[in-house]
Amino acid sequence: MLPIIPKLSGPVRETGGSFRPALPLGYAGDCPFADQFPMAPSADPALTFEADPALPAEGYRLTVTESAAVLAAAGKPGFFYGLQTLFRVLAAQGEIPCGVFEDAPKYPYRSFQLDVSRHFFPLDEVKKLVDQCAKLKLNTFHWHLSDDQGYRIESKKFPRLNEISSWRDENGTIVGGFYTQEEIRDLVAYADARCVQVIPEIDLPGHTSAITAAYPELCCSGLPGKVEFTSGIFPRILCAGEEKVYAFLQDLLEEVLPLFPAPYFHIGGDEAPKSEWEKCPKCQAMMQKYSLHDEEELQAHFTARLADLLEAKGKTVIGWNEILASGKMKPSAIAQYWTDQGAEYSAAEIPKGRRFVFSNVSSFYLDYDPAIVSLKGTYSYDPMIPGGEAVQPEQILGLEAPMWTEQIVTPRRLEELTFPRLAALAENAWTKEKDYADFLTRLPASYKLWEADGVTVYDWEKSVHPTAFQGARALLQQLRRWMFNFPAETVNARLLEQADQMAAVLEHPENQGKNPLFSSTFTPEEERAIAAEFIRLVHQELD
Ligand SMILES: [Zn+2]
Repeated sequence: MLPIIPKLSGPVRETGGSFRPALPLGYAGDCPFADQFPMAPSADPALTFEADPALPAEGYRLTVTESAAVLAAAGKPGFFYGLQTLFRVLAAQGEIPCGVFEDAPKYPYRSFQLDVSRHFFPLDEVKKLVDQCAKLKLNTFHWHLSDDQGYRIESKKFPRLNEISSWRDENGTIVGGFYTQEEIRDLVAYADARCVQVIPEIDLPGHTSAITAAYPELCCSGLPGKVEFTSGIFPRILCAGEEKVYAFLQDLLEEVLPLFPAPYFHIGGDEAPKSEWEKCPKCQAMMQKYSLHDEEELQAHFTARLADLLEAKGKTVIGWNEILASGKMKPSAIAQYWTDQGAEYSAAEIPKGRRFVFSNVSSFYLDYDPAIVSLKGTYSYDPMIPGGEAVQPEQILGLEAPMWTEQIVTPRRLEELTFPRLAALAENAWTKEKDYADFLTRLPASYKLWEADGVTVYDWEKSVHPTAFQGARALLQQLRRWMFNFPAETVNARLLEQADQMAAVLEHPENQGKNPLFSSTFTPEEERAIAAEFIRLVHQELD
């Protein structure tokens, strides 16, 4: 078996012996990726390319003898992934076994999301991460460019989006930044050269404190506001009853869309509190005009108008699962399922044929403590919506690991939390037959490759099995982060409720492994010890 991640989907037939070429490897034919690999044109090539339209869209076939390799693919991505396989194996061990290696991905959408609003990261760091995505055969980079804490796209039409919305005051220190349109085009081209599409997200209508700080007339109250510094869910959202808002979005999208050629646009749509809409005469008038029964339907109306705008520009809309809450979201929109809190309405969309991207919080949120979102949990997750019938394969677009940066300030910490869990996501999304034990045997070779690329990686060996105290503390912190927007009494009640559920697990061992708070890293003994410690900590805090 080749020592790389993701594991090949196969079939793989090794024939004995190995190919141990000198580098740079001499090649013949056209190769748009030649500058990314140690290869050079040669009159006596050891590597040749072959077009084979019968292979799957992103698949390839690598045929290796002791003196040469032939790479066949149907198109650009297949050639790129075949080269990744060949050169990563050579980088890891200096040789590749002879044989025929066939490979193609399980899902068409394999993605990493980076939030650059909560903390802004320089373009070089973004490029470094995109490059690592490509090496793991991920084909999508979801760029979360707008939130309460900052707007990150240069706007020539709306300069206040940069003068005001891109910066915030952290107790007297001004922090932030934005990418110029030229930098964005540069990143998109860099990603495209690695077969990675860049999907921008402007989160709407919630998470818009930064936008409405610059343009207060776009929110219901019209009162001045600020770019937020703390994390949280803020009630100051775009007014859905104000025509000026729709005109603004149309103008803004006309400026933003040409920067991003990918066929998708992410409109966010999550965590939009309705308290302002309930009080706003314009929002209420809009609901009357269109016979909308409640504010969830008003959000569906807002999102549908936005989706119409985007579809007219040739884009397919993606939104977080909250866009489904009204039950009336247009069928073409793709839902990105992240929270079990939306399980009921998400489940109802399965029979309608809705397409999903899966980013389940307890398996894929890379900013979470690795004691909670474990390497094994990220590897093992299979797409499902609790309480729903099975999601049909054609409804699963793919998997994405989001990296939120409320708590992440430095590139070093960003990388340490991303790797190696992103490799687990990548193999989960690519490889048809997963095998976690086998994945672990290939991980050390990847550590060497990351080290060579200057990537900081989390030291899993030292941290896989937390003490009961560490595990319980991490669970408690995680719960507090999920509940930070609730009043203290509610949080306390929910902590007690969770402690009771833990106690029920202790009393009835058959429930072990079913509490979603626990990752699959823990053995039954560890789970019991952590649950007991969790109950003790909760009571100690609340009594
Ligand atoms: Zn309003």
